[in-house]
Amino acid sequence: MIDQSTVERIIDASDIVEVVQEFVSLKRRGVNYLGNCPFHNEKTPSFTVSPSKQIYKCFGCGKGGGPVNFIMEHEHLSYIESLKYLAKKFHIEIVEDEETPEMAAQRNQRESLMIVSSWAAEYFASYLMNENEGRNVGLSYFRERGFRDDTIKKFQLGYCPDQKDLFTRMAQKQGYKMEFLEATGLSIKRDDWVRDRFAGRVIFPFHNLAGRVIAFGGRVMKTDPNTAKYLNSPESEIYHKSKVVYGIYHAKSAITKFDKCYLVEGYTDVLSMHQSGIENVVASSGTSLTTDQIRLIKRFTPNITIIYDGDQAGIKASLRGIDMVLSEGINVKVVPLPAGEDPDSFARSMNASSLLEYIAANETDFIRFKTTLLLSETQNDPIARAKLITDIVKSISVIPDNITRSVYIRECSKMLEVDENILYAEVNKIKHKDDEAFVENEKRQAARAQMNPQPAATLPEKKKKNPCDIEEKALLRILLRFHKEVIFTVESDDEGGEVPVTVAEYILSELERDNLTSSDPLVHQIIGEFREHYQEDFFNPERHFVQHENPEICNLVSGLLVDKYIESVIWKRKGSYVEDEHEILYLLVPRLVEEYKLRHVKIMIAGMMKQIGELQSSDDLERIMELQTIIQNLKKVEKELTKKLGKRAITI
Ligand SMILES: [Zn+2]
Repeated sequence: MIDQSTVERIIDASDIVEVVQEFVSLKRRGVNYLGNCPFHNEKTPSFTVSPSKQIYKCFGCGKGGGPVNFIMEHEHLSYIESLKYLAKKFHIEIVEDEETPEMAAQRNQRESLMIVSSWAAEYFASYLMNENEGRNVGLSYFRERGFRDDTIKKFQLGYCPDQKDLFTRMAQKQGYKMEFLEATGLSIKRDDWVRDRFAGRVIFPFHNLAGRVIAFGGRVMKTDPNTAKYLNSPESEIYHKSKVVYGIYHAKSAITKFDKCYLVEGYTDVLSMHQSGIENVVASSGTSLTTDQIRLIKRFTPNITIIYDGDQAGIKASLRGIDMVLSEGINVKVVPLPAGEDPDSFARSMNASSLLEYIAANETDFIRFKTTLLLSETQNDPIARAKLITDIVKSISVIPDNITRSVYIRECSKMLEVDENILYAEVNKIKHKDDEAFVENEKRQAARAQMNPQPAATLPEKKKKNPCDIEEKALLRILLRFHKEVIFTVESDDEGGEVPVTVAEYILSELERDNLTSSDPLVHQIIGEFREHYQEDFFNPERHFVQHENPEICNLVSGLLVDKYIESVIWKRKGSYVEDEHEILYLLVPRLVEEYKLRHVKIMIAGMMKQIGELQSSDDLERIMELQTIIQNLKKVEKELTKKLGKRAITI
């Protein structure tokens, strides 16, 4: 934990232009800077950095926030990690909050393991390049496999001398304790002897998201049938095999940029793809994919394309466990390579653009791929076919998105020559055992998807629309910018004096009085935090929310602070334009609140009308009457508000 005043000092010292410029080339445009967005692929720059507001905002993809948020998004670090990054960059000393001795011990343990791993990686890399054994055995192997020196350096490849415990002795000589060498698995210690785990192997270090070395993979150089070809570090406090994919640190920016991640099997596949110019690639490194690995990739993209070598056994082995990937809402595609090729050999045989062309031409949806593959094996065997159908239906039923699911059902019905309704019924049986209505809904969705056909993989997940979006954003914007401004005074009860009312006091008390809450969780949270802090003397809402821990809040708020969109919509609707809203807050604020209330009333009325419609066929007259009474009252309120707002009030 970093104490609050240090957080403040870090934020004060961090200059947004300097922070962004490290990753994006910026050009000055008036008071702002402009560049190509690092978060999405664009040709015309729409990524704006405002030094006066200390925020960035992309008008293409919507990302925005302050320096901390930029580092979180760009480097995929946590809030605390980003603060530490900025502290280092701007030379702020970090004072950590008091921690319990256990916490300190654990942190020190982890830190010690990382430090020894980092030193080991450097030792191995230097041994590979500078020592005879390293060059003759390790480096010549990498070069034979076609790896360039820049690739070898980028991935910190190395070599561990084949001399029993030379590495361990060197490490101890440098002051690294046996305890940590053992805990990382770099050294193996028995009662009376010590041995280097990776002796005689070329080394592939594993980096975590922040680029620190956490483990190693080693490939044996001798041909000895009794030695495992590949050997990995054992599990440790810094390395959990099931949570790591090889290459993620070097791939993360490209994955975000291209919104896609290629998944291959081995380290050398990753290296060759990088070398051919494709950088959004990671390896599961031997283990079959785990849910944690999928979630790690999903932080960057929901689109995964699996590239397999051509042999059938390999493909079938990797099919296991993919249902789990589908259930995470990931779009999985598969590219089988020609027989006899693996991603490594294939990538080396061509350049990036022909490789990408091949992938684009041969990419298949996972379910289609699985169906085709298994179908070819069940020719003329009705029982095997029936089993296959159950299997495919199971895969489809775990897909969380309705529309994607129905697209697959339609396709599989064609491929398997089974009636769509039967497949729906089967999926339905698995998913919602007792819910008849579900099938109907699925059919309707399918019909809709049929009228508007789109490839399954590109269907976006729909976010629920917030019906008060415009009104709420207008209110938030005013709150953020003018919360301390006095809009009018009211007479005080006791002394007969006048009490000033600020923008924040007015808006927040009005919302509270009518119990108005937002259906958008982000707006809800922002209003909540405003309520908590607005009476504090030094509360600076722009800064508080732009530097917020939740990146979605940074995006929303920085959008409100740069976007001219909302005010123009509001005022165009009125048919009038105002130069300086600051001058007319006393008019503007009550009006915005009333518009918001009116919108709420309209939504409530519409909702109740709908309920009445649904109740028509039932005989629950009592409930209908009840609803009608409420509607009448609401209509009165609506009329009043409309009158207040004048003729140009909004209509649905
Ligand atoms: Zn963007």
